[in-house]
Amino acid sequence: MRSTVFHGPGAVSLDTVPDAGLREATDAVVRVLCSCICGSDIWAYRGIAKRSPGQPIGHEFVGVVDAIGSEVRTLRPGDVVVAPFFWCDGTCVQCARGVPTSCIAGGFWGRSTGADGGQAEAVRVPHADGTLVAVDATEDDERLPALLTLADVMGTGLHAAKCAEVGPGDVVAVVGDGAVGLCGVLAARRLGAERVIMLGRNDARLAIARRFGATDVVRHRGAAAAEGVRELTAGLGADRVLECVGTEESIATAIAASADGGTVGYVGVPHGVLRAPIREMFGRSVALRGGIAPVRRYIPELVGDVLHGDLDPSPVFDVGLPLAAVEEGYATMDARLATKVLLRC
Ligand SMILES: [Zn+2]
Repeated sequence: MRSTVFHGPGAVSLDTVPDAGLREATDAVVRVLCSCICGSDIWAYRGIAKRSPGQPIGHEFVGVVDAIGSEVRTLRPGDVVVAPFFWCDGTCVQCARGVPTSCIAGGFWGRSTGADGGQAEAVRVPHADGTLVAVDATEDDERLPALLTLADVMGTGLHAAKCAEVGPGDVVAVVGDGAVGLCGVLAARRLGAERVIMLGRNDARLAIARRFGATDVVRHRGAAAAEGVRELTAGLGADRVLECVGTEESIATAIAASADGGTVGYVGVPHGVLRAPIREMFGRSVALRGGIAPVRRYIPELVGDVLHGDLDPSPVFDVGLPLAAVEEGYATMDARLATKVLLRC
């Protein structure tokens, strides 16, 4: 089969690799219908996030169950499924605690030893019952791109909003205009936010943010961005802030944009050494909650809304390509000519 393989900074290619196949009785093999390129893949492509040459890459995919092991109970061949960006058994102490990303039997597509990547024609899925969510959709369903966002970006945006404790009537600021930040806008509105202030400077992304429910835009970065949020909030700052970038500057911006007593939900994957201004947070009673998103928990609650037409994050995919053009997809995202690239098999 063909799978995207990371060969080093600036070098990914669609290579022929051994076919995905069942190894354990709890496995399923999924034939991929569509996958996509994540901002975190681009961090690897740029050589900022460490990855080993030869690893398959890609961690978001929607597909059809092709085969199941003898102990798989909740899935049948032919089921259309959404996979989270990790696998998990759904039964261990960590899964029960609500952190399936720490599952004792879990792992990450491409990064864990022997794991298939998602930007491929097929994927072996360990612990299929705990990992995959079957959805009532067909292989050519036009909602597949919207369902694909549940693999990572929509669930991650929702996690930021939940960790920030967004509630009815809140004023929310979103730091980061990538796909996660844009989904954070949708999530904040779902949770009842009255105003959502998007921080960003890219017109195409700001247009998506408006479509998703952003009411205000601040076209600055850093301290000026936080000042812009204060100007829009009578000097108080936002009740809730979603931090969707993962740099020291974006964390500082998020905390500076927060109202005293507010909460920052942080889901941007941290890069480099990050310091949070604990002294400022202490004095202003600003809380910081978040981390890697347990998106598997959110897929069942979001699937229904997507299938009923009440939730459509698919506009985050502003470029669509066949899997065969995956190299072009990476170059396009690296050049910031796309927010997020959809890959169709
Ligand atoms: Zn587990």
